Amino acid sequence: MSSHACDVLVVGGGVIGLTAAWRALEAGASVVVLDPSPGDGATHAAAGMLAPVMEAGFGEEAQARLGTASLALWPAFAEALERAAGLPAGAVGLETAGTLALAYDGDDLVELRRTLALHRELGLASAEITPAEARRREPGVGARVAGAAWVPGDHQVDPRAVHAALAAAAARATLVPRAAVSLTWADGAVVGALDGTGTTYTAGTVVLAAGHASASLYAGAPTRAVPGTTLRLDAAADRSPAVVVRGTVQGRPVYAVPRRVRPDGRRELVVGATSDERDDDHLTRAGDVFALLRDVRALLPELDDAVLLEAVTRSRPASPDNAPLLGWAADGLCLATGHYRNGILLTPLTAAAVDEALGGALSGANGRPEVRAAVEAAARYADPRRFADADTTAPRTAPTTERGGTA
Ligand SMILES: Cc1cc2nc3c(=O)[nH]c(=O)nc-3n(C[C@H](O)[C@H](O)[C@H](O)COP(=O)(O)OP(=O)(O)OC[C@H]3O[C@@H](n4cnc5c(N)ncnc54)[C@H](O)[C@@H]3O)c2cc1C
Repeated sequence: MSSHACDVLVVGGGVIGLTAAWRALEAGASVVVLDPSPGDGATHAAAGMLAPVMEAGFGEEAQARLGTASLALWPAFAEALERAAGLPAGAVGLETAGTLALAYDGDDLVELRRTLALHRELGLASAEITPAEARRREPGVGARVAGAAWVPGDHQVDPRAVHAALAAAAARATLVPRAAVSLTWADGAVVGALDGTGTTYTAGTVVLAAGHASASLYAGAPTRAVPGTTLRLDAAADRSPAVVVRGTVQGRPVYAVPRRVRPDGRRELVVGATSDERDDDHLTRAGDVFALLRDVRALLPELDDAVLLEAVTRSRPASPDNAPLLGWAADGLCLATGHYRNGILLTPLTAAAVDEALGGALSGANGRPEVRAAVEAAARYADPRRFADADTTAPRTAPTTERGGTA
């Protein structure tokens, strides 16, 4: 049985865990990341929509506020990440060209108008346009579409490129390809973790970022798996949309997220996504592939010629109220989990919350007004202690001291 000691132990190496690892390294900490397959969780399936507007659901004002605050951080975050990773500008694929929303039939249009009314209530920008205007923006929009809206503030980034950049930026961390089986506690504080081989890791701070599996390590992080499938298509650029297109087809949501055109005149499109309440098994159902292709071709018929490259199913890490858990949950334990369907959008806000928790004011960045706004939104809407009653973990007592600046 061996043991490792570090300043910060990050459990989980998805987009959120590696963000925490990078930020901890920037703060001068020694960092260990535990993950048997980094990047192969929800991060691997994500389409990368940065969509606080179209993702704003009824009764989900908190998520809209968190998403809007995080979107404002994306350009500076992408730039800093690309620089830290030694990559050229634009490598993570941030695109800020807006989103086209479509309604397939009359009932879908009624729903779209309800959504646009919610946007007005929440102060989010969107505007109904005619199907003809939608076709002027995107000539591939199908002839039978009943209505449309333009959403100027919803964008996209490439999650796999973001994860690869984070891995490069966090290369100084020690990556251990094993799963944590439990957190270790002493005197009511988290002091490390144990892996399946009996190796112990001691750390001043543990950041729990194990996605939907976080609940198995700490009951005060009541995450659950919400599996979803995305498809990757390879399409001729002139037969595929240039901006994110999303919509509903007879009540079923579907989207197509186009990556940049390659030199060969083709581009990858991510089509998604299903959403289920079942166990996480990484298995893709034939019916889900059929339904996604049927619905996306109802909105964008020219995609019929695209090549189907990949179907992937992974689980979103959902919390009981669909908002993330960010910040101190106990002495020694910082949560960065429960990002559900907006973890890519919320990555820069998570970075700001981790910076704040680890001491704040890193490189002066936390003084910027949009960063302060994000840190305040995280403190207000993502306080992990809101689920404290769910914490039935035996070995700990309630934390007696606050850690860092995030409540
Ligand atoms: C189909 C689909 C589409 C999506 N589309 C979007 C989108 O368009 N925009 C958006 O913003 N978000 C989207 N999301 C959500 C987004 O992918 C997630 O919110 C985000 O990836 C969560 O990142 P994470 O690092 O917390 O979790 P994950 O990426 O799941 O990473 C968790 C990591 O923890 C590791 N782990 C698990 N258990 C242990 C353990 N015991 N010990 C150590 N490591 C462990 C896993 O191996 C994994 O690498 C989508 C998700 C899905 C599934």
